[in-house]
Amino acid sequence: MKLTFSDRIALVSGAGRGIGKAIAEKLAEQGCTVICVSKNPSSCGAVADEINAGGGKAKAFAFDVSDPAQVKENVANILKEFGKVDILVNNAGITRDNLMMRMSDEEWQSVINTNLSSCFYLIRDLSRAILQNRWGRIVNISSVSGVMGNAGQANYSSAKAGIIGLTKTLAREFASRSITVNAIAPGFIKTDMTAVLSPAIMQKAIDTIPLKRMGLPEEIANLCVFLCSEEAGYITGQTISVDGGLAM
Ligand code: NAP
Repeated sequence: MKLTFSDRIALVSGAGRGIGKAIAEKLAEQGCTVICVSKNPSSCGAVADEINAGGGKAKAFAFDVSDPAQVKENVANILKEFGKVDILVNNAGITRDNLMMRMSDEEWQSVINTNLSSCFYLIRDLSRAILQNRWGRIVNISSVSGVMGNAGQANYSSAKAGIIGLTKTLAREFASRSITVNAIAPGFIKTDMTAVLSPAIMQKAIDTIPLKRMGLPEEIANLCVFLCSEEAGYITGQTISVDGGLAM
């Protein structure tokens, strides 16, 4: 099936590496102009350069999505330069795993702010423009941890479960303007985030996955691109797992 994208501007957070990079590249392949956001200018810069060198259209914006002042300032600059944002993919995320009784305020707060509050800041600051546009796609990247819970990730699974609630509420709030809001819940995906896990933990995780392997960033990006297309216009408020069957 050929997907339809007409002159769309897409903002992808956490586009510097891993899943966000794959999403940015696939949206660019569909003809979208991609605003690549990451914390470090070198990572989003390299992805935008790669897209432009391959004949696509992209621009990098480096800022901290967990800081409301930086989000406000950068969203204003993006809207000034591009006039609109049609597609928003909230993908930036971090983990700071610890058992509950040892978890520090900083570990809790940084994970909630980066994974959940960032979605609130970006959606809020872009919502007037997206609502005026009367067409939009918002995809929030949750996690199997938000669906099932995961020992050692009270901060991360709370943030990712929060994303599911945010997604359902905004799907209802924005529906009358033809704006869909969905979440994707990836399982174990091969990126820098999971590269820190020990081989023993990795193997234990793989043993519990029905498809007996980790997923690839492109496998998350494929669904994300579909959800952002014209063809996905009747899907909203959903959390779709891409996890090799882990959260059945
Ligand atoms: P990753 O490889 O660690 O990349 C994370 C990206 O997010 C990087 O580009 C990073 O920017 C950016 N980022 C982090 N904090 C930021 C901040 N405060 N402001 C702006 N950008 C920030 O992660 P990933 O594995 O691709 O994960 C992407 C998303 O999928 C996350 O939300 C994650 O929770 C979720 N997820 C991942 C898995 C998995 O198995 N990998 C499973 C379930 C869900 P820099 O490049 O500048 O550092």
